Amino acid sequence: MRKQVRKEVVKTINTLVSHSTYCNKCGKERKSIIEDGGYDRCTDHEIHEFNCSFGYHSNYDGENWNFDLCEDCLKRDYSIV
Ligand SMILES: [Zn+2]
Repeated sequence: MRKQVRKEVVKTINTLVSHSTYCNKCGKERKSIIEDGGYDRCTDHEIHEFNCSFGYHSNYDGENWNFDLCEDCLKRDYSIV
């Protein structure tokens, strides 16, 4: 014979609801709100992530650089067109 005892349990879930990305050049912030289902809704201008891996025999042998730049800084300082 088996007997089950049940009780109501309320669980707390730690979930990401928003995050911010900052331009490494001017400090501008881009806020994102994570909606239900994990959809990332940007509430401000775009900031792009850059990853640079330097190969052997370069001036930065084996280093990895990661940074974020907003579109204003990209256009103003790095536009090639
Ligand atoms: Zn910027």
